Amino acid sequence: MNLQEMIGLRRRCWYQTGGDAKYFAEPKTLDELEELISWGEAEGLPRFLLGHGSNVLFADEGFDGLVIHTKKLRAVRMIGEGLLEAEAGATLQSLVDHANGKGWQGLESFPAIPGTIGGAVWGNAGACGEEIGDRVSQVRLLEAGSPGQWIDAASLRWGYRCSGIEDRVVAAVRLRLSPGSDPQQLKNRSRELEKKKRSTQPYLLRSCGCIFRNPAGDISAGEWIEKSGLKGTSIGGARISTEHANFIVNEGEARSEDIEKLIEQVQRRVRDLFQVDLVREVIMPGQRGGSR
Ligand SMILES: Cc1cc2nc3c(=O)[nH]c(=O)nc-3n(C[C@H](O)[C@H](O)[C@H](O)COP(=O)(O)OP(=O)(O)OC[C@H]3O[C@@H](n4cnc5c(N)ncnc54)[C@H](O)[C@@H]3O)c2cc1C
Repeated sequence: MNLQEMIGLRRRCWYQTGGDAKYFAEPKTLDELEELISWGEAEGLPRFLLGHGSNVLFADEGFDGLVIHTKKLRAVRMIGEGLLEAEAGATLQSLVDHANGKGWQGLESFPAIPGTIGGAVWGNAGACGEEIGDRVSQVRLLEAGSPGQWIDAASLRWGYRCSGIEDRVVAAVRLRLSPGSDPQQLKNRSRELEKKKRSTQPYLLRSCGCIFRNPAGDISAGEWIEKSGLKGTSIGGARISTEHANFIVNEGEARSEDIEKLIEQVQRRVRDLFQVDLVREVIMPGQRGGSR
């Protein structure tokens, strides 16, 4: 078990903020992953599973527990016509490319989401009105002392940006796609969507994607923020993006605290002006109210 101590988290998440993990590991096999989970539980440590860190805001104080980074668990294989099996750390983009290349319809709406399949399934990532959960047939969930069981996706509680997986660990995922499409058409669709994303979002800046979930109703979180007049507002090195108001970007020297303060300011203002509660989409691990 290759365990490291006091490892900086800022280089391991998209926001590039946050302190150190007390314990940190990058398992190379699913057996190692299971061993780490068992060790962490035996030690009574809080645990955080980290994919690409594209939806995470670590505290400046760091994480007083075990962070398990899945980036080395990235094997992908075809297990049948239209069926892909991927370890949790495989990138969503690599699966989109794989499926498009084979003419397997189903993932072409998910380009340019900078996460792993484990993170995408955990949070039921969405794009263009589609959700990744609709493509998942089975998920292998690990627990301490168990090699992990494949469970049917239908038995999970899928919803808007949630899968019902909660504190369990995604070791691997099986996706069911529809064979028989023209690969070039699928690639063109992905390219178009990626282009749109890059032209309407601060895609190259440090962020976590959308910071709030869209509330019920016809008005998106970004529109509520624009109406509140906060677009462009900054605290320290963090700014509400002028390109897309539902993004808070780190302009270079932001601390996590700056981003948190902006989140709170937006929530307060939108609540005061419109009686709308904006709920965070970004995950804040650690002592600040658990994962959500
Ligand atoms: C520029 C940009 C654009 C984005 N666009 C989109 C978009 O279009 N749609 C969208 O839905 N999201 C989008 N996001 C947000 C983010 O990319 C997704 O939420 C992504 O699925 C997160 O994956 P990750 O591997 O980075 O997860 P992380 O950020 O590392 O973790 C997110 C959550 O998943 C959990 N998790 C990760 N791996 C596992 C595992 N193996 N087992 C159990 N839990 C796990 C973590 O503990 C955490 O709670 C965007 C982000 C950025 C920066």
